[in-house]
Amino acid sequence: MTTLIATGHPLQRAGAWAAAVIAGRDDPGRVSEADLEAVSAAVVADVVAAATTPKDTSRYDWWKVLFALYPNSKATHSKRPSDPNVLRPDIERLFAPDVPEAGPTRPCTFCNTGTTAVWAKSNLPLFDTSKSLNTLPPGVPGWPVCRGCRIAMWALPYGAWVTAGSATVLSCENETAQRDFARRNVRRARRVMHAGFTGVPATARPETVVLAALRDATEGLCATTLWSFKNDNQDPWLRVTRTRRAVPAFLATVDGNAPLRRGWHLLRRSLTRYDAQGRIVAGGEGEAARLLFEAEDGRSRPLLGQLHRLLADTDGAWSAGDREALVGLAFTYAEEVFGMETDLDPVATLIADWIEQGSSPRGRLAEYRNAALNDYKLGTLLVQAYTRLQLEGSKTTLAGPELWRPLIRRQPRAWEQRMLLFAQVSVLLQQRGVAIGAKEADPRQEREIEALAERPAFAADGEDEDEYDGFHDYEMGQA
Ligand SMILES: [Zn+2]
Repeated sequence: MTTLIATGHPLQRAGAWAAAVIAGRDDPGRVSEADLEAVSAAVVADVVAAATTPKDTSRYDWWKVLFALYPNSKATHSKRPSDPNVLRPDIERLFAPDVPEAGPTRPCTFCNTGTTAVWAKSNLPLFDTSKSLNTLPPGVPGWPVCRGCRIAMWALPYGAWVTAGSATVLSCENETAQRDFARRNVRRARRVMHAGFTGVPATARPETVVLAALRDATEGLCATTLWSFKNDNQDPWLRVTRTRRAVPAFLATVDGNAPLRRGWHLLRRSLTRYDAQGRIVAGGEGEAARLLFEAEDGRSRPLLGQLHRLLADTDGAWSAGDREALVGLAFTYAEEVFGMETDLDPVATLIADWIEQGSSPRGRLAEYRNAALNDYKLGTLLVQAYTRLQLEGSKTTLAGPELWRPLIRRQPRAWEQRMLLFAQVSVLLQQRGVAIGAKEADPRQEREIEALAERPAFAADGEDEDEYDGFHDYEMGQA
């Protein structure tokens, strides 16, 4: 009989995978009764230690995590006993085996296994709030939760990417990526318990961990969903973002191609933010990773939007090689992830010719930049450019309206087409030495970016294996 089932509920699923990792098993289905017993003992030890530790210790940081997930539980209540021996039995009881005499057997809320245990919502993250992912069937005194799922729901913070006030879990169809995400987080959780949040990189982000897991696990298709939430009594929230199914293929393409890696590292570097003292407040790695995630409504165009912002700087921000690397990244993303097939060369040439042949190429470039992403303005500009070049007797065949019409219609991916067109035009102009300022080569910076491009693009900086040298997977009962 299976004792632990990873269900479709994102929090239970994350917890089940965490329990499997803690038990040293390849997947939740292989977790035995004895494993469950051991995982339960480890979780109880950590909870009791966190709940009874003085506030000024680093172990107290783990209590903050528990408080963010289970704010009304016995472990986080403000009047909880400070003596571990008094608190422990209450926590142990949460994960004890079912008692057959305890009441009628009901199907578990998560996995349908018959259980006599009924949990109050205070033990279940997000069940206490209006953001709840579930509602209780009428006439049931609480949530029936089997032992495996009770342990999974409290193994959750180990398998989630946690901060002192929130948690993020991953759902994805690829089991290897799911396990990898859990494994990295279990390791990180141990670090937080021993050294507090000051012991883990402050600028790391869950999105970076997902990309590393996807990159290691699969080059095929795999959609992911990230659920971030805070189970706060006052102000709970739940945020859902997704990556498209082809993102792993995009990651593999970028990782295997030096100019694309260069583009990714330029993007990263442009997103790193510093405070007045020169300390990093937003790591470029994490900020770049976030751009591959889209909000639930699917209206965001994060990566291409950010690349456009970078490419729209035509005043000497980029060397020709930099610009080509960034443009290559944009085209690769559009092709791999959106499945777009684009041949924008003829239209890009038309616009570049028109800009080059003006009395003020810089003025025309500014005009085009202003119109580039707007269907109506771009349409007007294309008519004007086409007519003007025709009147002036262009020697080459001009791209006619049948080629640029798809770019100015209101149709799916037209915005992305216009973005790529601008990218392409900017490359042509920079190659011709027209209107776009080229960055002075800075040998030091050049060496830095080349060294970066040598490295894998998605290694999850700060969450690296090397960072944890000698720090092996979770050891049972270490607490
Ligand atoms: Zn269950």
